Amino acid sequence: MLKRLEIVGFKSFAKKTVLDFLSTTTAIVGPNGSGKSNVAEAFRFALGEQSMKSMRGKRSEDLIWGGSHSIPRSNRAAVVVVFDNSQRSFKIDFDEVVIERVVFRDGSSEYSINGSRVRLRDIEELLASANIGETSHHIISQGEADRILLASPRDRRAMLEDALGLKVYEFKKQEAQKKLEKTEENIAQVNSLRRELAPHLRFLEGQVKKLERADALREDLIAAAQTYFAIEDAYLAQEQRNVAREKQDATERFAALTAELSSIEERATSDAEGTKRLETVRKHETSAERLSSERSALSREIGRVEGMLAAAKQRSAKVVNDPYAKVPREALTALAEETERQAEQTGTLDAALAALGALRAAVRTFVDRFIAPTDDLLAEEERAAYALENERKELVDKDITLGGELEKAKSALARSREDLTAHDETGKELHRRILELAHEKAHEENVIAKSDARIHELGLFTEELERDKTEVLALAGAAALSYEPLSAAPAEERRTQEERKRSLERTKIRLEEAGGTGEDIRQEHKEVASREEFLASELDDLAKSAAGLRALINDLETELAKHFALGLTKVNASFGEYFALMFGGGSARLSLEEPEDIAGLDDEIEGGEERGAEPEEEKQRAGIEIAVSLPKKKVRSLMQLSGGERALTSIALIFAMSQVNPPPFLILDETDAALDEANSRRYGDMIENLSQKSQLIVITHNRETMGRAGILYGVTMGGDGVSKLLSVKFDEAVAVAK
Ligand code: ATP
Repeated sequence: MLKRLEIVGFKSFAKKTVLDFLSTTTAIVGPNGSGKSNVAEAFRFALGEQSMKSMRGKRSEDLIWGGSHSIPRSNRAAVVVVFDNSQRSFKIDFDEVVIERVVFRDGSSEYSINGSRVRLRDIEELLASANIGETSHHIISQGEADRILLASPRDRRAMLEDALGLKVYEFKKQEAQKKLEKTEENIAQVNSLRRELAPHLRFLEGQVKKLERADALREDLIAAAQTYFAIEDAYLAQEQRNVAREKQDATERFAALTAELSSIEERATSDAEGTKRLETVRKHETSAERLSSERSALSREIGRVEGMLAAAKQRSAKVVNDPYAKVPREALTALAEETERQAEQTGTLDAALAALGALRAAVRTFVDRFIAPTDDLLAEEERAAYALENERKELVDKDITLGGELEKAKSALARSREDLTAHDETGKELHRRILELAHEKAHEENVIAKSDARIHELGLFTEELERDKTEVLALAGAAALSYEPLSAAPAEERRTQEERKRSLERTKIRLEEAGGTGEDIRQEHKEVASREEFLASELDDLAKSAAGLRALINDLETELAKHFALGLTKVNASFGEYFALMFGGGSARLSLEEPEDIAGLDDEIEGGEERGAEPEEEKQRAGIEIAVSLPKKKVRSLMQLSGGERALTSIALIFAMSQVNPPPFLILDETDAALDEANSRRYGDMIENLSQKSQLIVITHNRETMGRAGILYGVTMGGDGVSKLLSVKFDEAVAVAK
């Protein structure tokens, strides 16, 4: 399937050189240092080799034609490998697969498949699909044949797995492991995200629970508020109606009382009737008094007259018996007094004579005047008494008349007084009524004032109710205010409604404490919860995919172990055969390390870091030991073998591995260098045998080997340091090789 190799600017191949592989076995021959090994390395290079060491270089530059005196250095080295893909060995729908790699002096590489630029990984995958894995087992570099003998048991195992084509399992396992690691990283990441999220989510859940409690409280508040407001509305309306009516009634009564009072007061202040009656009383009193005093005067007159009458009668009697009866007493008294006065004035004679003369005159006067005849006197007295009697009669008649008048006057007075008294009673009644009305007015005034106070109070209640409504609206929303109005307040004590109000207040406070509607919190909780749900389901998916990957890894390991065990058995059979063939007897076999050896080895190699692995895993990682037994020789370790013996053993092993899982091609760079003639022949036989299944490119100086090749290329190097290629015949080849 290997068709062609094209080399330009790679190492000593300054100019484009093309090798066609038309035979199953191609030998490349030429003198030392002509550039043969460079051809093997051109393969390594093109197939993606990354190790500079395996291409005998330190830097990429070392791979590019370095120039000589005649040909300047190149800036790039390019190698193309062409495979036949008519059998579709490569998983690509082309009859030919052209892999090219170019390296530049700056160290950068470019890869392409059939002219399309690709990544190294694409090359690796394509090659792996055709059982061309790492180059180590199908390109055996010069002096590297016994590498497998010198390698550590574990590296040997890796080489054997590679040669057995089990790398694909290893790759798949690594891939699965990488995926598993990534998945576990993701799991850890998701877990850490969940852990980060958890306290916030818990907090939000707490908040939402609180909000749910608040919702319940809000519902309570709405129900309580609707009841309270409906009743309060009805109550206030009813109270307002009542008080308005009360006030109206009181006002009307007050007005009526005021009117009545003012009319009564008016009546009380303008009392003409009373005055009239009083005047009548006064008039009667005056007339009674006048009559009474007239009568007293009359009585006194009568008394006087009756006295005079009695005196006159007495005098009449005296006149009869006494000469002086008629002499008035006053005149006698006056004479006596004159006599005494004259007698006292007798100091001097003249005075006494004068007094005596005066006295004589006085006595004469007296006698002339008062001593009259007795008859005259009597008649006079009787006349006087008669006159007095008449007068008395007149007076008594007058008194009788007057007495009648007085009686009339008195009874008139009594009547008028009675009238007045009766009138005064009416006045008192009026006053009493005035007081009563004033009292009633005060009462109504009080009622009005109370009504006003109540109206004011109801106004305050209404304001308070409005405030309550606003507050509840803010707290619980419009639902709290959409209630059916009541036609009347329930017949209950006011206390009941007051208790409702207190309960409402308590609910309000609790709701306020519980916070607002918390829409943002709910939203956030929803988001965080759905994020958590997402993470949980992602974690679930990841856990499933991790479990799937673990199962896959397990399967791959089982598969690998199965194939490896089978391969090992086959390789061992073939190894033993080839070994016996090469050495003309003896035996060789590969075996798995014992677990304790692995542990010991780990101690040496990795400081025991891997200790504690599961026994099954240990077994899977167990390295490969090589035990050989040479005919007629006792060999304890591989180190004790000669160079030729080591080469023979290596070749036996390489060929055994290639036999069991034939690679598409095998490049052997002077693997036969250390062989003597007899062994060279056996080597030649083995090559022929191998070439039935794998295409072989052998770089050799060995004549025997050259003889087995279908095509021979000679490589030469002239003075310009440039490797040149030419197709040669066997004889020429032998000559060239020398
Ligand atoms: P032998 O038979 O001794 O193994 P060989 O034919 O395998 O020899 P190589 O090792 O392939 O020879 O070639 C080595 C030659 O390639 C040396 O002459 C070396 O100078 C030349 N060479 C290596 N790298 C470059 C380079 N970058 N530019 C020019 N020449 C180079």
